Amino acid sequence: MTTPASSPSLSDLVAERVGFGIFVLDREMNVLMWNRFMQDHSGVPAEEVIGRPVFERFPELPRAWLARKVESVFQLGSFAFSSWEQRPYLFRFDHDRPITGGVDYMQQDCTFMPLMRDREVIAVCVTITDVTHVSMVQREREEAVAKLREYADRDGLTGIGNRRYFETRLAEEFSRWQRYGGDMSVLLFDLDHFKKINDEFGHVAGDTVLRTMAQRVAGVVRKEDIFGRFGGEEFALLLPCTPLDDAMHVAEKIRHTIGDTPVDVQGDVVAVTASVGAASARPGSNDYEAMINEADAALYSAKRQGRNRSVVLLHELN
Ligand code: GH3
Ligand code: MG
Ligand code: MG
Repeated sequence: MTTPASSPSLSDLVAERVGFGIFVLDREMNVLMWNRFMQDHSGVPAEEVIGRPVFERFPELPRAWLARKVESVFQLGSFAFSSWEQRPYLFRFDHDRPITGGVDYMQQDCTFMPLMRDREVIAVCVTITDVTHVSMVQREREEAVAKLREYADRDGLTGIGNRRYFETRLAEEFSRWQRYGGDMSVLLFDLDHFKKINDEFGHVAGDTVLRTMAQRVAGVVRKEDIFGRFGGEEFALLLPCTPLDDAMHVAEKIRHTIGDTPVDVQGDVVAVTASVGAASARPGSNDYEAMINEADAALYSAKRQGRNRSVVLLHELN
């Protein structure tokens, strides 16, 4: 097809109309072509940039990175790419989205294409696609997933870790212990006569007591310790790098944290105590269940001995 010299070629018309940026660079980074998208978004008309190094009008461009990218296309003769996930944008173009957290400029995917003549790369054509919308959807999705993950680990009533969280962390700490040795203990504690508290003050008051006690204990444990709600009014505290006698000190601290100060629930003074069972990981042990079962047996023993006490099974001390 022939084209009259005065009118633009079909490919020129296409390059002008397309909804993405097209520009062409020579090996010295001079601009050889600059389509309408580039003009509209940069505010720089083609005649002001063509024939000049691109960095002259856009000194904020990542100079070393862009020069390296273009040079690699000249040398290898193959395509190169850059996605918004690696580099959110090349040019600082405004985006047309309502202001939303995190996205300052139009997010861009770039393609670097070798333009060949006689098997020689004569120039590099760069295309710029506006992926702001995609990037925002993706960011929102990532935030939602992070939030869901957080909720999945949290107990809704007390805000501390739930049993799933506790057991996941327990499994991790147990493998660490199996590999590196040392000490590791666990405490299980259960509020005493909690059914009575519900009966006397109501379930809502019971919830408040549970929440308060969980928060109190969370406030006194070390940050290396792993604390979770194990069941209804039962909690678990894993103490990495802690021998049994130290764990018993922690048990007593927790028992006092819970029992020494009653909770004020809308004018009602609600006193509650806790029983604690302690156990340690035994050398050669293959699973953490044995340790949990021992702590549970110790807790049961504390209940039978009259509650409001910390107990460790006798054979544990040998
Ligand atoms: P013990 O000293 O033997 O532990 O007596 P207990 O009454 O605490 O023991 P039991 O396990 O028989 O009862 C636990 C009670 O805790 C029964 C249940 O209604 C209550 N409970 C469990 N989860 C919740 C909760 O989320 N909120 C409230 N308010 N009560 C709960
Ligand atoms: Mg109880
Ligand atoms: Mg219970």
